[in-house]
This record gives sequence, C-alpha cells and structure tokens, in this order.
Amino acid sequence: MFEKILIANRGEIAVRIIRTARRLGIATVAVYSDADRDALHVRMADQAVCIGPAPASESYLDGDRIIAAALETAAQAIHPGYGFLSENPDFVEKVEDAGLIFVGPSSQAIRAMGLKDAAKRLMEKAGVPVVPGYHGDTQALVALASKANEIGYPVLIKARAGGGGKGMRLVSDPDAFPDALAAAQREAKAAFGDERVLVEKYIQTPRHIEVQVFGDSHGNAVHLFERDCSAQRRHQKVIEEAPAPGMNEETRAAMTEAAVKAARAISYSGAGTIEFIVDASEGLRPDRFWFMEMNTRLQVEHPVTEMITGVDLVEWQLRVAAGEPLPRTQDEITASGHAVEARLYAEDATRDFLPATGTLHHLRFPDNIEAARLRIDAGVAEKDAITPFYDPMIAKLIVHAPTREEAIEGLAGALEKTEIAGSTVNLGFLTRLLRDDDFSAGRLETGLIGRKQDVLTKTAPLKARHLAAAIAATSGAASSEDTSDPFSTISGYGHFGPLLHKRTLVNGEEAVEARVAAQADGALAIHLGDDEASRPIIVRRDDPTRFASWPGHITVFEGADALTLKVPDRLQAAEESGSGDRLRAPMPGLVKLVRASVNETVQKGQPLLVLEAMKMEHTITAPHDGVVAEIATEGLQVNDGAMLVRFQEAE
Ligand code: ADP
Repeated sequence: MFEKILIANRGEIAVRIIRTARRLGIATVAVYSDADRDALHVRMADQAVCIGPAPASESYLDGDRIIAAALETAAQAIHPGYGFLSENPDFVEKVEDAGLIFVGPSSQAIRAMGLKDAAKRLMEKAGVPVVPGYHGDTQALVALASKANEIGYPVLIKARAGGGGKGMRLVSDPDAFPDALAAAQREAKAAFGDERVLVEKYIQTPRHIEVQVFGDSHGNAVHLFERDCSAQRRHQKVIEEAPAPGMNEETRAAMTEAAVKAARAISYSGAGTIEFIVDASEGLRPDRFWFMEMNTRLQVEHPVTEMITGVDLVEWQLRVAAGEPLPRTQDEITASGHAVEARLYAEDATRDFLPATGTLHHLRFPDNIEAARLRIDAGVAEKDAITPFYDPMIAKLIVHAPTREEAIEGLAGALEKTEIAGSTVNLGFLTRLLRDDDFSAGRLETGLIGRKQDVLTKTAPLKARHLAAAIAATSGAASSEDTSDPFSTISGYGHFGPLLHKRTLVNGEEAVEARVAAQADGALAIHLGDDEASRPIIVRRDDPTRFASWPGHITVFEGADALTLKVPDRLQAAEESGSGDRLRAPMPGLVKLVRASVNETVQKGQPLLVLEAMKMEHTITAPHDGVVAEIATEGLQVNDGAMLVRFQEAE
C-alpha cells in the first residue's frame, strides 16, 4: 500500500479521500489554487502545495504542475477525484511517465469510453444493449435526417464528446431536425471543440439507472448494485439513491450482468460506472434498458453505494491502484437498506437555479448524525466562501435507513435542520422534491423536476411571527454594543407605558417598519407597520424562531427555507440618506478588478470595476460624471445588491 498520495482535487471529494487515506495510515498531499489557500481540504491534508491562480485552467487542470507537486513531496500516487483531470487519458500517461501511479483506470480504458459513438460501437460488439441509434461517422444533414426517420421520432441528438448535457437536443418531428442539428453541432463545437454528433431514440418515461462496477489488475470484475439518478434538472443529477425504486431481481440481474460485461470488454481496473437509460413506462423490465455511457472514475453519488454495501470505494480504489486484488468477490458483496443522497448547492432555485456565491457566515448541520443515520460529505466549514471559480456544491447529505420511506423522511428532516446564512442555497427545493408525491411514491423519471419546477421552487412568504422575531433579534443592534441579547438592551418600560423604539429591516427592496416595546415581563411587543394601535406580536426570550445574525443581515429559518433581511444600522442609515448615489452588484460575484479610486473624478461610461459572476466578467461603468466617494476592494466576494461604488453628492 502507498505511504503518501497526492489528491489532485478540491472541495468535498478531496476531503472525503483524505478521510479514507488517514484511516489507512496513508499521508496526504493537497493541492490548491490561490482562491483555496484556506480551504478545508488544505487544512485537513498533511501537506499542501499551491499550484497556481484561481481559474481552474491555471491550477486544478494544470497536469504538469500537479505532477511536479507530487514529485516534490515524494507522493507515490495521484488520486484525481472526479471532474478536473479524472478522465483525461493524456494526464494519466504523463503521471505514469513520471514514475507515479494514477489512482484510476488505464489511459486506454478512458479513451475507449471517452467518445460516446466509439463507446457505443464497442458495447454493441460486447453484447451490451445500446439505445437504438446511429453512431457512425457520416455527419451530413441528409444522412443523419434519414437515420432519424429510420430510428423513429422523437430522437435525441448528442455530441459524441458530450458531457453535462451540452450539445444535446431533443427533436420531436422531422421538420425541426435541421435546426436542432445545427444548434447541437454549434454547441458541441464551442464546448468540446468537436462538432460530431450521434442520433438516438429518445426513450419515453426515461429513468437513469447506473451500475457501480469495479475491476482490478488481476482480471476480476464485480458490480456493487445500482443507483437511481433520475431526479435530474437539465440532465444534472439532484438526488440519487440505491437501490433503484421498483427494481426487481430479474431486471437487476440483467443490468448488473451487462455492466460487468462492459467493464470486462475494456479490461477495466478501478472504480467505474455504467450508466443506463431505462424505459420505465411499464415498470422496470429486463429488456428495457440501454447503455448510455461509462464514467471511468468515482462518481459524486458513490456514497449511496457505500452505505448500502458497507464498502469504502476509495479504499478499494487505493488497494487496486497499489496492485492488490479486489477485497471481495461478487458473492461477498451484499446490500442492505436504502440510501438517499441530496446535493446541497449554493444556488437560487427561484431564479432558475442561478449559481450563487458568498461567505457561509453561518453553517449548521444536524447534530444527531448517528441517530439520523446521516453522513455528511462537506467541502467547506463555517466562514468559508463559495467562490465563482468552481462548482458551487457545499455538501452532500446522505441517509441510510431500513426502507426508502424512512431514508427519504430522514434526509428531508436533516435538510430542515441544516442552517446556512451568507449565500442562497437549495435546501428548500431539495426538501420539497423529497416530499413530492411522485418522488416519494417512486414514480421517477428524468422530466419530473422540470415538470414541477414551479411548485418545487416556491418558497412560502415569511410569516409575521417570524418577521417579528427577526425584528426583536435585531432590536439591540441599534441601541447597544451588545447585539447578542436584545432583551437586555431595549429599555424604557416605565410607569406611563412602554416607549416605542422604531426598527427597520429590509426585505429585498422593501423596507419593513416596526415599533418595538419592552413589556414588564421582559418580552418584546412588536408592532409591525406604523400603526401603534395595532395588536402587537409578543416575542419572548424562548421564541422558537431560528435565525442567524451576520454582518448587516439576519437570516430567518423556517423548515428548510431561509429568508435573509438586511439590517441597516443607524450609522449606515445616516449614510444612506446622506450622500450620493450608488452602484450595486447586479448578481453575486467577485470584484476582480478595480479601476478607479476614491476621490477620483470619473466620466460617464468610464469603467470603474470588473465583477466576475457566473464565470463571466461584467464591467461596471459610471452612469454619469461624478466623483467616487467609496469603491469596493479587489478580491471581495459580494452578494447581489451589495454596494460597489458610491458617488459624492453633486455640489
Ligand atoms: P452527458 O454526458 O452530456 O451528461 P448523457 O448521455 O449522460 O449526456 O445523458 C444525460 C442525461 O440525458 C441522461 O441522464 C438522461 O436523463 C438523458 N438522456 C440521455 N439519453 C437519452 C435518451 N436516449 N432518451 C431519453 N433521455 C436520455
């Protein structure tokens, strides 16, 4: 076994690999970009090497730099995690040329499965069922259109180099074929530098079911059952589970046998996944599944397999890479119970899942981990930032329970107990999906989320009671240094009745006015609105509303949803009314470049700063001539609506 490995990744997967390595007594080397200097994986590893600036292309994708780091630190092997360099055969060859071991399959196996068309031809030959379609070389419109007619509509056009659903088009009738083909080719060319496509039958009531396979260098190949990943949003997995709901022994036997056959066809060594598309219109049947693609790496969703089988897949990866045989034979691999995983993301479900950024000022996971049979694979800790440079995944939560029902309810409960403030997250969406009638009944298909997006992303409006609790919680802020106990800082209960303190919070663009009075019994009476005669809401010290205060904000938690209100303190309030106009961030992002300074006279249209958001750069220009009074600092993470520039008031 290895004594030291380098992990060529970041976030939760790097952390997860470090855990297993540590248990096995293997020392770990982390690599990191400038943006990840203080990241959790860096803090956890035994050693860490900086490999370049924030953009992945200059750090986590720089294979040469990573190999140099492994050599410098005397690591014997490189674990690529998933994404980044994990399926790059050129990298594998470079690693091996440097005398190091790549924890993963051979470059030949990756190449054989790298292009969808070649992989499908190979699988057809190996006797694995493949979606009926055309995977040949001809790319002319007339030829492809006639293949589409033969296959029968609806058809799916797919980029052969595709990934992440890019370059994919569903075509329902022949008239739409030419335009869809052109669009798919354009997208494929832009994303992969390869415009070639394949055409296949579009499966109705499709489910995505995949089989975990494992091979070693001694010619063994086994499966570790299936996972269902049908809960997808635009072809991206959202919730995964094992086993697949409604699976029967006959279909499972056929699928797992086909998967092992696929792995054997390329003498596969290491962890891999065979993805199948399943026609579930009449339940799961042994003749209604087809090979889609093979992922020649560990998958994001591997924990559900680990939980039902009790196997540590990363341990197996390391053992197999070190030349050991698979620790168990097929007969020794058994499954029990049901595991469900949810991917917790910084994203705004209500704005079509726009990725979000921000500092996680408050991050609480449920603490009854064992009783809840919960596993949390997190890549961040409280106060860490979600930056625009990488995938905005915060953590994966996985529950393993005797039955699917219990696992789903356990996971929904765990998500409700999770509190995050400082960024917008998808906790509410995930919980609504888990509790959706179709999802919980196991009526899965890949279109479920798209069909129900409106209800799944709809958050309940904040209740007056919670608003009152937020007002009470922030009431101390204006009148005292001590913000922790509003009840001790609001004073003024007297013989002639309570004094009313005015308090304002900002909900989106809207100011929420309230008046707060201390009562004789120490509770706070909150009058929402301007009407002093209105019936107040009484908030006591033991009010159960959950909230988190963080600089300039308060976040109220209700179920799995959260609502963040701005808390304009007095100083800020004075300033807000006092001087000049402001430019605010149109979306969360990173202040990448500042091109003006305080007291500088600027002209209308002059670039003031560059905001990087959603992997794009937005130049913020002066809306009019003026003098800069304040400007954001470079490198700052901002939430949307944050002030970027304030102008001096015109004379
Ligand atoms: P990518 O590599 O871009 O992720 P895949 O081939 O893995 O593309 O397909 C992604 C998703 O698209 C699948 O999980 C499934 O939901 C859907 N899909 C793919 N092929 C078909 C098909 N023939 N019929 C119906 N849905 C499909």
